[in-house]
Amino acid sequence: MKCDLVVVGAGPGGSMTAKVAAEAGLDVVMLEKRQEIGDPVRCAEGVSKAALRKLVDLDPVWISAEVKGARLRAPDGTEIVMSEDRTGAEVGYVLERKVFDRALARDAAEAGAKVMVKTRALGLLHEKGVPSGISAQFVGESLKIEAPLIIGADGVESKVGRWAGIDTALKPKDIETCAQFLLQDEKIDDEYCEFYLGNDIAPGGYVWSFPKGEKLANVGIGVLGSKANSGTPIRLLREFVAKNFPDGKILEMMVGGVPVSGPIETTTADGVILVGDAARQSDPITGGGIINAMRAGVMAGEIAADQVPKGEVDKESLQIYEKRWRETIGKQITRNFAVKEFFVDLTDDDLNHLTHSLNGINVAELDLRGLLKVLVRQNPKHLLKLRHLIV
Ligand SMILES: Cc1cc2nc3c(=O)[nH]c(=O)nc-3n(C[C@H](O)[C@H](O)[C@H](O)COP(=O)(O)OP(=O)(O)OC[C@H]3O[C@@H](n4cnc5c(N)ncnc54)[C@H](O)[C@@H]3O)c2cc1C
Repeated sequence: MKCDLVVVGAGPGGSMTAKVAAEAGLDVVMLEKRQEIGDPVRCAEGVSKAALRKLVDLDPVWISAEVKGARLRAPDGTEIVMSEDRTGAEVGYVLERKVFDRALARDAAEAGAKVMVKTRALGLLHEKGVPSGISAQFVGESLKIEAPLIIGADGVESKVGRWAGIDTALKPKDIETCAQFLLQDEKIDDEYCEFYLGNDIAPGGYVWSFPKGEKLANVGIGVLGSKANSGTPIRLLREFVAKNFPDGKILEMMVGGVPVSGPIETTTADGVILVGDAARQSDPITGGGIINAMRAGVMAGEIAADQVPKGEVDKESLQIYEKRWRETIGKQITRNFAVKEFFVDLTDDDLNHLTHSLNGINVAELDLRGLLKVLVRQNPKHLLKLRHLIV
């Protein structure tokens, strides 16, 4: 097979890339190793309404719940409640990713991309030392797909980057190890996304409950890799559920990782671009990566459509992608990485103290950045290190 562009992975990043490039006239092939796009889900499915609406025309069937806001709980139980319209990239909609991911892939197919499921990319093809396509396997059959440009949108466990010599390795302190239950319980709050903080609850991370309607929620935990052993997230999540939802029924369970490394050194190589989790573009504070993967996918698709017809796909020519995403997504994740580095080492007393400092302040209308600003204002000495990042 021959085409202009191979996209590896049909998550939100890959499908947006494939759609944008195909709409611009490129001959695109998108490979997905799973037999069903979007399934199994490894995500809590929370996105900001405003950010999603900027990227796609919304279809209500993608949404399993629309929430009123977010509730943050300090280790001693003190609560901060933030309203939905200002909580930035964290909440708004809880998606049904099985439906959402499939819809984005269908949009890519409608734009003209050839979508191949149950097709696993196995390695890069080379010509004169430069990547010239992908070798893959489709239901036991070997395939060679020649293309001048490969986009690796193959998620947190990305191999495309490694094949191209890009260092995507994550240190334990740069990955949240996660576990999640789909939980049914009368005590689930159907109207708010909830975040629970504390070093005993989730060292270097947090526990979340994202409602999916009718007393169903994605209840999960992220624990910083450097503060966890392999079984830690599941053990802590079980303890949390036993304490907070003792009658809860676990209907699904999954484990996964979220990069919280901030921008990596490079996301391009000759003939290769990385997008989304493969490029470590998720938010280091929240771990959210759907919106950033989609935004990076749009950029990569547009740049592919410009560069491929000109035959300019060497690493130097692809710097235009590095520049675009670093000036946008990159700025936000650089700042949030520094904030995360500070917060992961706070004690429970620190977290309680910071939460109490908001007593009497109306935080309901603040977004995450606004909340951090108020925290710095209320705790100038304690949060001195964050001042230059936030104010
Ligand atoms: C527990 C958990 C909770 C999360 N909660 C949220 C949340 O609430 N909100 C949020 O915004 N983000 C969340 N995330 C992160 C979010 O899921 C990712 O950031 C997002 O899916 C990244 O999209 P992507 O397109 O880059 O990669 P993915 O969605 O991971 O898609 C990559 C695709 O590539 C395919 N693939 C991989 N290797 C190959 C190969 N060799 N050949 C062919 N196909 C391949 C995979 O099967 C997959 O379909 C969470 C993650 C976890 C683990």
